[in-house]
Amino acid sequence: MSSKETREILKESKRYLVQQKDLFGNIIYNDSDMNTTNIIQNNIQTSDEPWAAADSIEALNHSINKCLKCGLGNSRTNFVFGVGNPNADVMFVGEAPGADEDAQGEPFVGRAGQLLNKILAAIEFKREDVYICNILKCRPPGNRDPQPSEMELCTPYLYKQISLIQPKFIICLGRIAAQWLLQTNATLGSLRGKIHNYRGTKLIVTYHPAALLRNPNWKYPAWDDMKMFREEYNKIK
Ligand code: SF4
Repeated sequence: MSSKETREILKESKRYLVQQKDLFGNIIYNDSDMNTTNIIQNNIQTSDEPWAAADSIEALNHSINKCLKCGLGNSRTNFVFGVGNPNADVMFVGEAPGADEDAQGEPFVGRAGQLLNKILAAIEFKREDVYICNILKCRPPGNRDPQPSEMELCTPYLYKQISLIQPKFIICLGRIAAQWLLQTNATLGSLRGKIHNYRGTKLIVTYHPAALLRNPNWKYPAWDDMKMFREEYNKIK
């Protein structure tokens, strides 16, 4: 192995350890004996903020919907918590609310949301069967990309949502959600088309519906992703 390769491995290892500490605190764990829920529960239990003790999705929403931890809290029209079945097998996670979502207080309600509903129908799910949310609960102005600092502050709420819902599948809609949850800089193209193990939960990456509206050619690979998901889901049913 060359010294350059060794440096790359050390750099990557350091990045991974820092990321794990950021996400999960001072918890050393073994993938083989801890699943997502365990890790998330451990992480959340270390928080002494009132929302961490929420025992239902409704209670969590109630305890965080006035959040002003980052600047987006001051510019939002509505807090956009999430919607759907609190016991869903499948959780869809996007990056942040857009203008329609900000106006209505519900994720994926604009044109992208309508397309998501059609995608769900094509794989024989109804919107109310699944749970839909974003990493950020407040809209970034002008629909700019979420900033890492905003995602760091907001992601604990998503972890808590995941720990309460305990989905069997997480489907990341778009590059930003996928890269953030998987903590990678890999391209969306290289992340989709496979089943990731997100700390014990199956995670699938596909295009954001808004991207499909901009580039309809991506609907074909997106459909492949959804078929792959449906086949995997059928195995557990
Ligand atoms: S985006 Fe998240 S962290 Fe920022 S104010 Fe909204 S809820 Fe709080």
